Amino acid sequence: MSDGSDLCTVLHVDMDSFYASVEVLDDPSLVGRPVIVGGAGARGVVASCTYEARAFGIHSAMPSVEARRRCPHAVFLPGRFSRYVEMSERLHAVLERFSPVVEGIALDEAFVDVAGARRLLGAPPEVARQIQQAVRLDMEMECGVGVARTKLLAKLASRAAKPVLTAEGPRPGPGVVVVLPAQELSFLHPLPVRALWGVGPATARRLDALGVTTIGDLARIPEDTLCRSVGVANGHQLAQLARGEDPRPVVATREVKSVGHEETFAVDIDSHDGLHGHVVRMADAVGTRLREARLVGRTITVKVRYGDRVTITRSHTVGAPLDSPRALGVVAGALLDAVDVSPGVRLLGVSVSGLLDTDTTVRQLSFDDGDEAGVAGPGPTRLVGSGRGGLVGDLEVGTAPAVPRQLAWHEVEAAVSAIRARYGNASVGPAALVGREGLAVKERGDTQWGPTVPAPSTGAQR
Ligand SMILES: [Mg+2]
Repeated sequence: MSDGSDLCTVLHVDMDSFYASVEVLDDPSLVGRPVIVGGAGARGVVASCTYEARAFGIHSAMPSVEARRRCPHAVFLPGRFSRYVEMSERLHAVLERFSPVVEGIALDEAFVDVAGARRLLGAPPEVARQIQQAVRLDMEMECGVGVARTKLLAKLASRAAKPVLTAEGPRPGPGVVVVLPAQELSFLHPLPVRALWGVGPATARRLDALGVTTIGDLARIPEDTLCRSVGVANGHQLAQLARGEDPRPVVATREVKSVGHEETFAVDIDSHDGLHGHVVRMADAVGTRLREARLVGRTITVKVRYGDRVTITRSHTVGAPLDSPRALGVVAGALLDAVDVSPGVRLLGVSVSGLLDTDTTVRQLSFDDGDEAGVAGPGPTRLVGSGRGGLVGDLEVGTAPAVPRQLAWHEVEAAVSAIRARYGNASVGPAALVGREGLAVKERGDTQWGPTVPAPSTGAQR
């Protein structure tokens, strides 16, 4: 029996005291101290403060003069907006690894619709925990994640996920709070009406006059009474929210520039053998997500972060856009081969950029394994291509009227050769090209295309 968490596909991710946390991140001497970011002048207000400052009753929007009175020894900082924007970009990059549907609502807050991530990443509460972990590892910062069926509930849930102040100082909160469908009203009704969107000071005063303090009070008064007091549109919306209904969908706020997957290992891995299975699995995950999002891409990038946090990337651009998990795995594997992994790899990532919409892109040939919809049956013709060295792929020939460009296995092999010609091959001995069904061991450069094939790559090498 499901607990209904599958229906809770809306996540709200909210960074903890964002500006102040960025300052603490950049200056470790501030760890554990009350830090206030805001205007220092006579009319300045607090923009953000650490939980150590909140312990003194300080909160955002409080006049800075008042904050200084409450905590004279707090560290006051003017704020560095461009740095916050930079970290906000990082947050978006992390979130877009989990779903292409990310709606930013502030620098440090975003909704994420994870309905499409179910098969790959697990149920929404599990995805929320993965996001929290990824933010911690990638940004070295903390966030709260609310998980619910609607935007309103997810936003309120993330608030409940935050650190809590105690007499002994701030303590970590639950981090992830899930509001299951069966718990919606018991979660919502005790909260103050001011927690609802659309309840400003004027509406709050009118509701107060009606004896409405909590969202539960709001749910109990007749809707026409409400509408007479606060207006029809407003009253109708408030009544709806009080019942836990919120039909607004999560809308992606920016174009996705890449689809990727990365993982930090518990223990650094220092051999290609140890990393190959991971790179193939990640490429598989990325290909699956591309297909779910109906995207194809031309540039494949492998990212390697060593134990000392030094990070390098290797990219290659193929001639025709692709989304095949197997082809991505082969190209990503070759990119990884060209990297010296002996210092020990802490984080490995695979991403695809140069994205195009599948529907507006001429249909590519994919070489999948026969388990994809549309491969079997009377539709597409099937070919079997056989490369040298035992590399075999099934080619699905699209039934689209024109297929001017065909990416076949020999092109994947050419890509592999080009990668080796460009980057060299850091691995010792024969490089293993790992497919999902097994291994095809090839000596370096052992393809009919040889290492002289000019690299079609325009991929950025950072
Ligand atoms: Mg925040």
